[in-house]
Amino acid sequence: MSQQLDFTPKVRGEIMKQHKTTIDSKAEQIISLGLLKKVNDNAYICRPLPGNSTPRTLIRNVMNGSWSCDCQGFKASKNCSHKVALERQLRERNPEQLTYF
Ligand SMILES: [Zn+2]
Repeated sequence: MSQQLDFTPKVRGEIMKQHKTTIDSKAEQIISLGLLKKVNDNAYICRPLPGNSTPRTLIRNVMNGSWSCDCQGFKASKNCSHKVALERQLRERNPEQLTYF
């Protein structure tokens, strides 16, 4: 006898909302801790948040300007806190203010 995991649309919506909230709050942390470092115009490194150990690499697709990240979250949902943080920081601040290596 097998039990299937079957979420109702309402539960699924709650999960997605929670996922988005997590991304947003992590992105805020990344920005406030200044973890994003510019490599060049099309590549940034995100230093790990406290408790994490792996730095993440963000690469811009020069064809359409979209960013991609090498973390699991991005692979799964095409969105992650690193990408949100980078896009927010590029939008709200002069990118030249991001420290170079
Ligand atoms: Zn990521």
